[in-house]
Amino acid sequence: MTIQLGPDYIRAMAPYQGGKPISEVAREYGLDPHTIIKLASNENPLGMSDAARVAIVAAVQDIPLYPDSHTYAFRHALAQYYGVPAAWITPGNGSNELLILAAQALVAPHQAIVYSQYSFAIYPLAAQAIDARSIVVPAKNFGNDFDALLAAITPDTRLVFVANPNNPTGTFDGGAALLNFLERVPPQVVVVLDEAYTEYLAPELRYNAFEWVVRFPNLLVLRTFSKAYGLAGLRVGFGVAQPQITDLLNRLRQPFNSNHLAQAAAIAALADHEFVAQTQAVNTAGYAQLTQAFDALGLPYVPSCANFVLFKVGEEDNAGTRVAQALLARGVIVRTVGNYGLPQWLRVSIGTAAQNAGFLAALKDVLQ
Ligand SMILES: *Cc1c(COP(=O)(O)O)cnc(C)c1O
Repeated sequence: MTIQLGPDYIRAMAPYQGGKPISEVAREYGLDPHTIIKLASNENPLGMSDAARVAIVAAVQDIPLYPDSHTYAFRHALAQYYGVPAAWITPGNGSNELLILAAQALVAPHQAIVYSQYSFAIYPLAAQAIDARSIVVPAKNFGNDFDALLAAITPDTRLVFVANPNNPTGTFDGGAALLNFLERVPPQVVVVLDEAYTEYLAPELRYNAFEWVVRFPNLLVLRTFSKAYGLAGLRVGFGVAQPQITDLLNRLRQPFNSNHLAQAAAIAALADHEFVAQTQAVNTAGYAQLTQAFDALGLPYVPSCANFVLFKVGEEDNAGTRVAQALLARGVIVRTVGNYGLPQWLRVSIGTAAQNAGFLAALKDVLQ
């Protein structure tokens, strides 16, 4: 008889499926890796800031030493830039780690976590990993339905995950709606506001959630350097919350969860406003390029405030997988979203003009 190792709730988890790496697609389809267009993980098509690259190279000499566990320079750079106390900042090995830590720190087994249908795939995993109950609230127009999220909160609910903009839909909730939601959430329920794509927001959509942290002891705001800052490979993000939550996260996080190169690169990237502005401009142009083409092709899409677009490729049940595989054979990697309950849709990250054009040419070819 085979002995089952590990608890049931861990064995019930499905491993996270990321975007296929370029090397894997090159191998499987016999393609030259240099011709492959990867628009599957919402990475920055411009790469990273030159200042970040210089900082990484300079920091390499300190690799034999453990990094600063308290991330003093990193937290103080963030504190100064965002006007929040350095003591309220928790570094993360990507913001992904902080999503997991928040669940571990704030929710006991069998208590509940609330989030929207079509929200980020890590939320159910964070709940499952601690044997918490997920309460998934039907989406409204592919995004958060705040009244329904509030109504779904049970006496044993301890956490609500809200992504804004949301991945994989690109939907966005304005500051007024969010603030109104925060005012109505009971104080024993922590709201994790996941702002991985906030740098892509048009100026008129912006709000400052860090100001709300002063008012709400049950708010944790998460940011990442993986998307607009182009540092996905280094794994660096951070959370901002009042000391009660920050203290809990610090108890759980590994002492060196934020590595030395990541801290150095993030500090430099934060100061390179020119790079972020360029990133925003390329994204805005790319969004127009992609959505105009979707309109011309008659493909429905969800209007996006982030650096990717969710679009519908067919009516049959496996349309997403079929089109994604045909695109792979043509050297274009996009993301299937069947795991989100959207098997007829695909998510494409916005690339450079040339990458977008390559993707659109392959898509037209496939759809013909
Ligand atoms: C990409 C992403 C993150 C975090 O990514 P890290 O690389 O771990 O910082 C968090 N939330 C959402 C919604 C994302 O799409």
